[in-house]
Amino acid sequence: MSLHGTYDEQNIFAKIIRGEAPCYKLYEDEDVLAFLDLFPQSYGHCLVIPKHAPARNLLEIDDANLAKLMAVVRKLTQAVVDELEPAGVQVAQFNGAPAGQTVFHIHVHIVPRYEGDKLGIHATHQGDAEELKALQARLVKRING
Ligand code: 5GP
Repeated sequence: MSLHGTYDEQNIFAKIIRGEAPCYKLYEDEDVLAFLDLFPQSYGHCLVIPKHAPARNLLEIDDANLAKLMAVVRKLTQAVVDELEPAGVQVAQFNGAPAGQTVFHIHVHIVPRYEGDKLGIHATHQGDAEELKALQARLVKRING
């Protein structure tokens, strides 16, 4: 039933939006927030979320917020590609636990892929704090540059 249900204001991304939980922030505007995935599946794994859409998934978000979300997804994907020069990049979004969703506030994954590198296991190994901090600085500089 995780595809259907009620939006939980206590989910971790809602806490990040409210400033009640930390994140390695990459970009923020009036409507959208982007930050590093804390359990990255590849070097440069980012997440992009809407700030004012209490939507669990793609089926619940309104068109205006979806458009704003995707505009930032493309902008950040460009910055990731320019800065990290991966061989490819996955842009993914999961709806419902059987589809791989673990946090029920709609979000888009940006996952750079490098030649020969296998994808890490989803939401499993926490990234090294120093590495995440250095990566955050690189990407913020690129986004603002
Ligand atoms: P989903 O499985 O719902 O598509 O993706 C949720 C993502 O959120 C996973 O990739 C997981 O690693 C990430 N994640 C879980 N908890 C946190 C957290 O507290 N902070 C950040 N930045 N990412 C998280």
